[in-house]
Amino acid sequence: MATLSLPGVGYGIRYEYGLFFQAIEQGAQVEHPDTWLRYGNPWEVPRPELLFLVRFGGRTVHATDPSGRLRVEWVDTHDVFAMAFDTPVPGYNTGTVNNLRLWSARATRDFSLRHFNEGNYFKAVEQKTESEKLSKVLYPDDSTLIGRELRLKQQYFFVSASLQDILQQFLEAQEPFGRFPERVAIQLNDTHPAIAIPELMRLLLDVHGLEWDPAWDITRRTFAYTNHTLMPEALETWPVDLFERVLPRHLQIIYEINHRFLEQVRRAHPGDDARLARMSIVGEEGGRRIRMANLAIVGSHHVNGVSRLHSDLMRQQVFADFHALRPEAFVNITNGVTPRRWLHHANPGLASLITGQIGPDWVSDLGGLTHLAPQAERPEFRARFLDVKRENKQRLKRLIRERTGVDVNEDSMFDVQVKRIHEYKRQLLNVLHVVTRYNRIREGRLDGMVPRTVIISGKAAPGYWFAKLIIRLIHGVADVVNHDPAVGDMLKLVFIPNYNVSNAEWIIPACDLSEQISTAGTEASGTGNMKLALNGALTIGTLDGANIEMRREVGDANMFIFGMTARQAAECRASGYNPWQAYECNAELRQALDMIAGGAFSPDEPSRFRSVFDRLTAEGDPFLLLADYASYLACQARVDALYRQPGEWARCAVLNVAGMGVFSSDRTVFEYARLIWDVTPVATPPPGAARRQRR
Ligand SMILES: *Cc1c(COP(=O)(O)O)cnc(C)c1O
Repeated sequence: MATLSLPGVGYGIRYEYGLFFQAIEQGAQVEHPDTWLRYGNPWEVPRPELLFLVRFGGRTVHATDPSGRLRVEWVDTHDVFAMAFDTPVPGYNTGTVNNLRLWSARATRDFSLRHFNEGNYFKAVEQKTESEKLSKVLYPDDSTLIGRELRLKQQYFFVSASLQDILQQFLEAQEPFGRFPERVAIQLNDTHPAIAIPELMRLLLDVHGLEWDPAWDITRRTFAYTNHTLMPEALETWPVDLFERVLPRHLQIIYEINHRFLEQVRRAHPGDDARLARMSIVGEEGGRRIRMANLAIVGSHHVNGVSRLHSDLMRQQVFADFHALRPEAFVNITNGVTPRRWLHHANPGLASLITGQIGPDWVSDLGGLTHLAPQAERPEFRARFLDVKRENKQRLKRLIRERTGVDVNEDSMFDVQVKRIHEYKRQLLNVLHVVTRYNRIREGRLDGMVPRTVIISGKAAPGYWFAKLIIRLIHGVADVVNHDPAVGDMLKLVFIPNYNVSNAEWIIPACDLSEQISTAGTEASGTGNMKLALNGALTIGTLDGANIEMRREVGDANMFIFGMTARQAAECRASGYNPWQAYECNAELRQALDMIAGGAFSPDEPSRFRSVFDRLTAEGDPFLLLADYASYLACQARVDALYRQPGEWARCAVLNVAGMGVFSSDRTVFEYARLIWDVTPVATPPPGAARRQRR
């Protein structure tokens, strides 16, 4: 936003411990706390004077205000202060500096005094630690819901502080509340801040004395919601009794929102009780729960998905009822990545090669990369492209040596899968390919094979035991493959610990082949796919998420597509998918799976990976790995064939870079500004411009 000269504020929590640090011990993930503040943080400005009170618990009572109006008061609450820390975010080549405002929890003096006055000094100090837990640690898993009370409290904590901050700034301008939606747009990043909808209602009704209808009109015209996943296990719901205990006033407001909303649905679809039950904000299955996605949709003027496929599936499947009611509210805004970090900064070699050919404008106008396309036909440019890639691979080779002790060959193909470890992302399919390739090498069936280094990196959520088992399996396979003299340089498998943005900046520029192999219909967009292609990797992938749009931009001939489409995957499941069939019919697949089940990669504990085998067979293979295996292997053979022609490979790689212009986050942000927020850039001269002019 800053680079586009759009005024904006980012709000969040100033966690004392960020996402855990991943260490690998005996092939297994071990989590360590990320103490990122241990040496202080020079980029932030503490704002001890910027404090807002956030309240929890208590009960509601009715009161009459001096004008005789009945209103609700929220009393007997536990209170915590939110203190602001500001981090300036300067744009690239503009004078705009936006603000990232993160809230840190502080105990109120009030609260500790209560115990102190009772003579209980230690209790008073305990209460302080209790309050400050709110900004202690980031929950590491958004892919499955863990309905923890502290998580709900964290969400409300930062949302309430942010809304109070926004309202205070709005009120300083002394404009009527009716103008609030013209002055403020709030984008809900997933449902995690969706409690903001009833919180704004509460502030408008109970604190500022508005009536329901104008308050609801303001709220609906202020919020928009970005959905990030279709997987039902990731959609947030909170038990009603938890809500009642933590946020009793908000529960009342949600009930009222729901009541009025369901009235509207009933008018549109009389007698359709099943529809009412599906659309209700209160779910009745398995105990009454608040469905945060339904709340977010009902309280927003726009809802967007993050790739065309994802937005289509959203409209046709999970939110079909809401789409039928209000089709104009649903839009698509395909994700993008910043070219400043992911090319200009992370890959200085390629960046200067590009600038040398087409000038520097691509850095803030990535569409300009199309001017690079003619270079793909020039042998001299291809050679220079390959030189840069080789230097980046040498740099990564040193990092791999340092972090894992494994020596890799920089002339082998670097085949990279870097992303969170999750069954739907199918790291296991990658492993099945590695095991098959290993078996072919041992059996001397090398026809057309090129040397490969398969690189995997990613964290597993600490409570997702199966994802952690996948990490162990990767290490088990690596141990066998990397130490087998029969394999030599033909195949290496390395797992780089602690995947994060800093490591990504080293890995991505060194990649030849980018693995984007999720089950079609499961990856909302992906952004790793964009970073890798922008750095001249060829993609092997399914027709999932943004891969589909990437193929359109870079051309069919420059991407390796395999496997079922989202529609075929759905049909496959609907027609009673049986993974045993693939197991029986495909000897290589059977061999790989039997080795995993039989302990070939866990000689010290032969049954360790038995559950991997079971998951992919008896348990039904929910992400259809076996169904896509043959197609994936055939596609990998095509990859080898192209890699044996470096000139042709380089040509495709350069065309990938040239085609990635639309996947700039600048384009994405601009679409949010135009389609959802209705804001335009505020011209600000770049720093030093005024001084230069005076001279
Ligand atoms: C880009 C990025 C991701 C997202 O990767 P996907 O392949 O889109 O899942 C995850 N983690 C880090 C550190 C990243 O830089």
